[in-house]
Amino acid sequence: MEKIVALCKRRGFIFQSSEIYGGLNGAWDYGPLGVELKRNLKDYWWKSMTQLRDDIVGFDGSILMNAAVWKASGHVDTFSDPLVECKLTNKRYRADQIEPQSGTAYYYSGISIPAFVGDPSTANMPPLGGADIFKFSVEPKKIELQFAVLVPIGKPEASAQKIARQFYVSKGYIESQIISLNLQKTEIVENSTAFNPENGAQLSEPRVFNLMLKTYIGPVQDESAVTYLRPETAQAMFVQFKNVLDVSQKKLPFGIAQIGKAFRNEINPRNFTFRSREFEQMELEFFVKPGTGPEWLNKWLEERLAWYEAIGIPRAKIHVLTVPDKDRAFYSQGTYDLEYEFPFGIQELEGIAHRGNYDLKQHQEASGKPLEYFDEESKTKYLAEVVEPSAGVDRTVLALLCEGYDEETVKDEESGKEETRVVLRFCPRMAPIKASVFPLLKNKPELVAIAKDIYKTLQPLLKVTYADTAAIGRRYRRADEIGTPFGITVDFETLEGAKEASTSATGTPIAAGQKDTVTLRHRDTMKQERIAIADLPAYLLTKIA
Ligand code: ATP
Repeated sequence: MEKIVALCKRRGFIFQSSEIYGGLNGAWDYGPLGVELKRNLKDYWWKSMTQLRDDIVGFDGSILMNAAVWKASGHVDTFSDPLVECKLTNKRYRADQIEPQSGTAYYYSGISIPAFVGDPSTANMPPLGGADIFKFSVEPKKIELQFAVLVPIGKPEASAQKIARQFYVSKGYIESQIISLNLQKTEIVENSTAFNPENGAQLSEPRVFNLMLKTYIGPVQDESAVTYLRPETAQAMFVQFKNVLDVSQKKLPFGIAQIGKAFRNEINPRNFTFRSREFEQMELEFFVKPGTGPEWLNKWLEERLAWYEAIGIPRAKIHVLTVPDKDRAFYSQGTYDLEYEFPFGIQELEGIAHRGNYDLKQHQEASGKPLEYFDEESKTKYLAEVVEPSAGVDRTVLALLCEGYDEETVKDEESGKEETRVVLRFCPRMAPIKASVFPLLKNKPELVAIAKDIYKTLQPLLKVTYADTAAIGRRYRRADEIGTPFGITVDFETLEGAKEASTSATGTPIAAGQKDTVTLRHRDTMKQERIAIADLPAYLLTKIA
């Protein structure tokens, strides 16, 4: 992961937001290459949904909505995570993400300090000196302040005491004045989530924390002006269901697709862009006839798995989790999570949920406006059921980077020395730059002229770059490192004719002595073959479609 994060910064895929000010936790900026990668991903999703299918229309809703939407959808009351705090470091965690621990728990009721020392927690410091020196003989003072530590079985109490002492010192007591830690009980615990896996310190009781980012609309910041940055894109599609249905004249089953930003005040953003506070979603709300939800849920599962394959994430790397009843959102009648094997663990990329008619029903009731569908065939009105494949743009970009990243030892194509080649093996469809055009030498005007010509011809058709600095081997490596699938090199054979007869990349023969061909280098295999300049546009376009 460290290597991927470093590459992202070095080559301009992803930067920390507000970096020069020390960053902002949970927010990221996409640099010149990152934005191309992300755009390719979103464009392909959009095309798969709204262009290649007849039953889905596109939509782009606003981020700010009437607060009543979030009340009706259940987000105001239930869109929350359980938050716990480490009693020692005050770091916050999501209670449901605490790795269960086993070991011996030491429970302390508090500490004993010299009788004449004040208790900093009550700021009740008696004056020292004078008569106080006579108080040495007095019983030590007991301070009641509960704390517990978990240590692995077999470890001595001293390791628990070390953490406990740090805790009492953090509360203002002076280390050298702690006469004793008052042990209340010890206990063998198994699979407990009450302790911080990082240091063994006790965690606070979980409390509910709403994840929506609150804001105010207009100049007066009172309760009536409160709304939220949307925590998912979905709601606008439910709220506008009727309008979209009327204008698109679709019949069930049909879908509304949207890509856009969402915001969640995540308790603990982590794993690079995986869990951010600002991110993008690609969501489809697919409306179906009552009773057909389960069937469509399974159809969408297959569709989405095939889609990930089409962007270069193999089926074998995606784990389908049937979310158990107890973990499902209360409105869901069935959910699959598509999880990817990230370097930091198997984690969710997309959720596909059968939401029943929950959302339309809630909004119909709360707004008083009918959101039913009139079925021409049966001449009846009813609320449609919804199947929702909801994917994260940023998580999928991260999966593409993780899947693509590779290192191999190769011989330098010129010097013959062994070196490490870093390569991002993006599928051409996703690659930020599709091809790079190189004149073999910078100081040969004939080579440069042809290379520039090729570059200009390709430029309107696909994302292509031109590079003439550094030795050709170095230029290839730089292109490999950003995942450019094709290198096009104008060399002496372009001017003087092919050295020998061959078959071109397109499968057509190239005769010995044939001019106007270039070297086509493939990123993954480093294989080089010749191709006629005239064949380049069609060849490349079919490869990246
Ligand atoms: P998690 O359990 O990981 O918090 P979730 O189940 O709450 O995710 P959903 O509400 O189903 O997520 O959101 C749909 C998709 O949006 C997720 O599969 C994920 O790809 C993306 N997503 C959700 N939260 C975040 C986040 N904080 N950062 C980046 N992407 C996110």
